[in-house]
Amino acid sequence: MTPEARRVYYNCTVREKKGTWWEDGALALENGRVVACGEREEIISRYGDWPGRDLKDRTLLSGFNDAHLHFYQLGTDLTALDLSQVSSRQELREKIEVEIESKHQAEVIMGIRLNDSRFPEERLPERAFLDSFSTEKPIILRRICYHAAAVNSQALELAGIEKDTADPEGGKIGRYPDGRPNGLLFDSAVELVLDELPEPGISDLAATLELAGKHLLEQGITSVGIDDLRAVRRAEDMLAAYQNYLNKTEARPRLYLQQRIKNTADLEKLTKISRPTGEGNEDLRYGPVKIMLDGSLGARTAALSTSYLDDPGNRGELLLNADNLRELLKRSYRQGFIPAIHAIGDRAIKTALEAIKKSAQNKKMLKQSQIIHCQLTRPGLINELGREQIWAVVQPVFIKSDRQMVKKRLDQELQQNSFAWQSLSRAGMRLAFSSDAPIEPVNPLYGIEAALSRQDWQGRPEQGFLPQEKLKLDHALELYTEAGSRLSGEARFKGSLSPGQLADFIVLEEDPRQLKAANLSKLKIQETFLAGSRVV
Ligand SMILES: [Zn+2]
Repeated sequence: MTPEARRVYYNCTVREKKGTWWEDGALALENGRVVACGEREEIISRYGDWPGRDLKDRTLLSGFNDAHLHFYQLGTDLTALDLSQVSSRQELREKIEVEIESKHQAEVIMGIRLNDSRFPEERLPERAFLDSFSTEKPIILRRICYHAAAVNSQALELAGIEKDTADPEGGKIGRYPDGRPNGLLFDSAVELVLDELPEPGISDLAATLELAGKHLLEQGITSVGIDDLRAVRRAEDMLAAYQNYLNKTEARPRLYLQQRIKNTADLEKLTKISRPTGEGNEDLRYGPVKIMLDGSLGARTAALSTSYLDDPGNRGELLLNADNLRELLKRSYRQGFIPAIHAIGDRAIKTALEAIKKSAQNKKMLKQSQIIHCQLTRPGLINELGREQIWAVVQPVFIKSDRQMVKKRLDQELQQNSFAWQSLSRAGMRLAFSSDAPIEPVNPLYGIEAALSRQDWQGRPEQGFLPQEKLKLDHALELYTEAGSRLSGEARFKGSLSPGQLADFIVLEEDPRQLKAANLSKLKIQETFLAGSRVV
């Protein structure tokens, strides 16, 4: 992948940056960077003697920046049993039987993306059901949100989970009325089982990263915020796998590393094996410490200030109490690590905001702080968040999957003020878009479509959910391109196609402005370029 030293792309529509589109445009590149972007005539008059390529009326955009996804998990999921389309016990039975038959040498049967809200009974299957397939091999079916899993008796035994096993910190073991575990595991309890599974070596990890990276480039993603340090037992193994991947693979998205920690011991270790927020280079930038504060709406573990309507008495759970969170943030800021806190429910978001305000050492650190998801909010909370101008890394595509749950599970005020990206943005929060893949499909065009239409996968409701929160296309594109590079502190050299920027861009078959929102996700990403070299 040697960058073409000089090249002019012409006869195309170019989105240079927010609000600046060139209809009959051209882009001049030299040594992997943009030299000029503008009207074709103007560019050709200055760079007409450089080698050129006619793009035949297609459209150029900056490469997408997905600000938060699980890179390694995405790679493993590309080869695991996908249960996302299953909507009954019978269908589940057939899928598992085929998997066991076709992978009879596998030591573990791993299913992913199981979505029990599609089942008539809206409950995950308990261990007795899974034991009917095998009592010798562990079977683990992870819920679509990854915050819960259904496992068989062999998996429980492997993890030593018995009647008198206490719930782990930040997790819950599902039980029958007599106290025996029923095979359902929530949040950190899932890890009790995962931690006992055989683990791949560093070069296997790197091979999985390579699969994920290739998949992202095909979707036009040239920069990505990744959260996988804890996907293996030892964070240093994953760091080594990233290095191995960077050294071996030339065509890969630029990585922004979110560094997951649970407690101060993890933080201390991180200071020895990794580097603080903002260090690194164009290939790999060390990002924030990522801290989980609650679960998900799907698993009814997002921490709300009121009960779930369909589960009275349950308000979800904070995975760290306010004092512990504050202490962890104080130490993080002191060591140069900005926090990125996973908070979905309004109670978790409020707790995160308070802790950030009380711990940040200065205004700059405060404004760099991030809340990942920031999903279920109330009017007062939206104003408080906006006032501090902190970041929200949000997932527009969640609307497509979560809308029905919002109606069934949340009180009126939460329903009316959730996924409120327009309100959050007007209030002063800084937003960046992401997919949270593999929880949702990685294609950024799904997210952009969802931000514009605010409809679910079936196109409902017709006017969109909270239509006042709809975004305009150019704004949605900004949140999937420029915003991510601001979030990682790299806007001076990537995120747009203005002169001086890295030539990371994609070629679309049509101008997205000419399409109805519902058709955006059908748009083909035909080519992807990194620093001026074509990689897809
Ligand atoms: Zn995530």
